[in-house]
Amino acid sequence: MNLPIRARLTALYFVVLALSFVGFFWVSDIGFRSSIDLTADNASRTNLETIGRLLANTSSRGESKVRKELNELAGLWANGALFEVAGQNGNWIYRSTQFERTDSSFARVREGDISFVTTNLDSSQYRIALQRVSAGNEVYEIHAAVPTEPFDQALDRFRLMEQEILPLLAILASVLGYWLSGRALAPVNRIIETAGLIGAGNLSSRLEVPKARDELRHLTETLNAMLRRIEASFKRITQFTADASHDLRTPVAVIRATAEITLRKPRTQEEYRRALSRILETSVDTSELLENLLTLARADAGAAGMEMRTLDLAAHVQKARERAALLGLEKALDVTASTPPEPVWVKADAIAIDRLLLILLDNAVKYSPSGGRCEIALSRSENHAQITVRDSGIGIPESELNNIFDRFYRIDRVRSRNTGGAGLGLAIARWIAEMHGGTIAAESKVGEGAEFQIRLPAGVV
Ligand code: ADP
Repeated sequence: MNLPIRARLTALYFVVLALSFVGFFWVSDIGFRSSIDLTADNASRTNLETIGRLLANTSSRGESKVRKELNELAGLWANGALFEVAGQNGNWIYRSTQFERTDSSFARVREGDISFVTTNLDSSQYRIALQRVSAGNEVYEIHAAVPTEPFDQALDRFRLMEQEILPLLAILASVLGYWLSGRALAPVNRIIETAGLIGAGNLSSRLEVPKARDELRHLTETLNAMLRRIEASFKRITQFTADASHDLRTPVAVIRATAEITLRKPRTQEEYRRALSRILETSVDTSELLENLLTLARADAGAAGMEMRTLDLAAHVQKARERAALLGLEKALDVTASTPPEPVWVKADAIAIDRLLLILLDNAVKYSPSGGRCEIALSRSENHAQITVRDSGIGIPESELNNIFDRFYRIDRVRSRNTGGAGLGLAIARWIAEMHGGTIAAESKVGEGAEFQIRLPAGVV
């Protein structure tokens, strides 16, 4: 259904209330009807008993006396009540004219019992109580009738009232339903309105939280939490783009300036060689930076597919040691690796693991002085494999240990100017560790070297 909630709620109110009213009136109608029947029966029974008592008192004094008394009694009854009394041989002692005119006949009743019939006498309806009673030596048949018309009129009035009130009540219910659902939905409309106004320009605005602790408050808080997350990642992306453009501009400017200056006048072979190797060096750095940016962008988009295979970490650690030894050759670094004798099996992406190790070793080499040490240690606990990369370099201030894994974070541009990185290495390292369900942490003291620990889940393979 495409109807708005308000219309649907109103329709629901209408249907439910209209059905309840119809049900209520139906039950009251039945109740009314049966109470009318009971009242009519009681009235005719009372009349029957009065006649019975009269007969008991007068039957011994002869039929003419009985007739006289019955006539008097008939004169006393004003509210349309009628009766007829027959003697033992079936002859009528007294008959109201209506009985006479209709000349109705009823089934015989057993002595003592009272039975009731509803019938027309002289074109009006009556409820008639029938009884056979013995009084003195006689047995009488008494029929006492009360008109049902007054009762029927009351029932008709009640029904008429029902017919008029029912649609009115239903309409009232719909109006009430419309108003109530409008009230209930008003906060939702406010949320829609405010949410509609939030865009990239005002991501820091929040929805007003309703006071009542209900579902709407929960909804608002959930939406606000979502906005907070969106704002945070939006900021991160904006920052990332700004930092990336900034870091890309520098090498491109270097390449351009080198080329322009070199081309200004004729140069010697040596000068051209130096300019070109500067350009080459800078472009290698730039493509590395671009590669890193691409990795992080893919990581953000969740599009960086990793191929998880079972592999022996020890083999990868040895391979990394060899590469680090090459990197550290110039500085005459002492690079060592210690691995357990048996393989350490993990489920991991081989290329990503190599990259992670290279990032840490590259840093260890970059931030270590000549003749320093660099150790890689692999160990295995019950559920984890742990790789520790320790160097004897300049170290990291304790206050910075939490920041170094952030994108573009470099402790001090001056101290790392010559080391060339863009501050993306550790961000990528952390992402790789996390993609493998692992963690990465750093410990260090300035001047005493740094230690990085990677923990990866290692299953029994
Ligand atoms: P970069 O490309 O600048 O090396 P990283 O993300 O790899 O970027 O590292 C972030 C910062 O952390 C570096 O700028 C550096 O200051 C610091 N750092 C990383 N590794 C080491 C280390 N082994 N010793 C000292 N400082 C380090």
